[in-house]
Amino acid sequence: MAPNPGDGGSEKVTYTSANVDMEAFHARFDQALETVRGASGQEHPLYIGGREVPGSHDPIVDVTPIDTSFELGRFAAAGQDEVFEAVTAARRGRAEWARLPWRDRLEILRAAAALIRERKYLLAATMSLEVGKSRLESMGDAEEAADLVDYYCSQVEEADGFVREMARVTPHERNIDVLRPYGVFACISPFNFPMALSTGMSAAALATGNTVIYKPAEQTPWTGLRLYDIYMEAGVPADAFSYVSGRGEEAGEPLWRHPGVDGVVFTGSREVGMKIHHGLSREWIKPCLMELGGKNAALVMDTADLEAAAEGVARGAWGLQNQKCSATSRVYVHRDVATEFVRLLLEKTAEVVIGDPTERDVNFGPLIEPSSVERYERAVSRAREEGEVLTGGARLTGEALGKGLYVAPTVATLPLSSALFTEELFVPFLAVGEVSGLEEAIRETNRAPYGLTSGIFTGSDEEIERFFDEIEAGVCYANKRTGATTGAWPGAQPFCGWKGSGSTGKGGCGPYYVAQFMREQSRTVIGGDA
Ligand code: NAD
Repeated sequence: MAPNPGDGGSEKVTYTSANVDMEAFHARFDQALETVRGASGQEHPLYIGGREVPGSHDPIVDVTPIDTSFELGRFAAAGQDEVFEAVTAARRGRAEWARLPWRDRLEILRAAAALIRERKYLLAATMSLEVGKSRLESMGDAEEAADLVDYYCSQVEEADGFVREMARVTPHERNIDVLRPYGVFACISPFNFPMALSTGMSAAALATGNTVIYKPAEQTPWTGLRLYDIYMEAGVPADAFSYVSGRGEEAGEPLWRHPGVDGVVFTGSREVGMKIHHGLSREWIKPCLMELGGKNAALVMDTADLEAAAEGVARGAWGLQNQKCSATSRVYVHRDVATEFVRLLLEKTAEVVIGDPTERDVNFGPLIEPSSVERYERAVSRAREEGEVLTGGARLTGEALGKGLYVAPTVATLPLSSALFTEELFVPFLAVGEVSGLEEAIRETNRAPYGLTSGIFTGSDEEIERFFDEIEAGVCYANKRTGATTGAWPGAQPFCGWKGSGSTGKGGCGPYYVAQFMREQSRTVIGGDA
């Protein structure tokens, strides 16, 4: 019997899973791909307060980066009018959603998590086509989304709905501390983890009683729409979650600028995040929860297991074509082991299987859009001027790859002064520099304006401790062969960006995330039998 793509199966696939029945996985994935391809080419409206609404801008033509002539669908593009309508719906719905007992809200969200698991093959196949993710990467994205919902729900539960009896200053008073929702959250997400990040941000906002206006990235409206469908089927009230697909300037900008928006949860580039942060708070300071870019370094010391280091760096750098905020994009290697490390790194890079990422064994697909290819080409030509390009450095064409946005994974050795060590590129370009030891490696790492993830390879426990103490990054790994700087999971590795990589000092996937969507109210009642 053919597997049903709507039947999630029981095995969980994470970004680094190994113990999965791969035959069953691929059979289900094939089936889901067929279903998604068959549903391609349709037109989709916005969904505002449960109503289908056309967009006022030219629709987004959603193509797959695997073959840019293949249209996945046409999605309405919201402008100011539709965004304002969505804010009206969210404000209308906020009192009812906030008043719902928190256990009832969690029940609805857990039903959404169950639906995500049930449809994980369909979701993964959609992402594989829409983003150009490999099968395992896209399945990890879907699984993470479901786990995030459960994890955030459990935070509300463990805090007993964030209602707490407080001390009494006199015997006649009763003091209760309550965390209450802000009201309406704008939720704006990036293209690279369209399911996990959209779900994580919106589920935390919803679980805490806020209503949400959701704008997916313009490159991934289809995955976003699948999330909308799931929330509606799970029982989220229509006014509590509106879907406004659209472009950043046309839809995102009027959304966060609207005075009826009480807070913004955003994941994306530092540039856009900083703009929102600077512009958001006018009459008063609004919550602005931001997870931003990264320029993540791997530090390879002279006592490191170089095989493990080369594998960890290659996996961290080439997964999702380096389009992860956590991707390894620079390496500081001890000069005594640099030659051997680079040899091994080039060996591992040559093993990368480039091609259509919806195929079974491909682990390196296309870039998301033409501007990424241009950014890649500019970086390569700068690297040729400043240092040496050891492998890659070109766009990939030919019969199959020429239809999509493919480039070769690129490793360049550069002087430490090169700006290619500190700018986020978000393309498969890995800068390698030699250092004299840990001190210089840490100093160089901390020079970047970002502070998201970092990884060290060393045989010395003392070096690991010093690395943890002195590195300016929120997610740190030591000797991680499955990805030097990548692979965080809800409840295991909180994902907190320092410096230009985030705004609040409390990360998604972590135990302090959910409380940020609420504000505190102290309630004192005098008299009675208190
Ligand atoms: P982006 O900043 O270009 O876009 C993100 C979202 O912002 C999109 O929905 C876009 O339409 C919207 N947007 C653009 N301009 C806007 C404006 N003026 N007002 C409001 N919204 C606007 O980012 P991207 O290219 O989609 O994603 C890649 C970036 O995201 C990288 O910098 C990456 O490091 C970062 N990222 C960070 C994390 C994290 O957890 N720290 C996770 C994933 C991605």
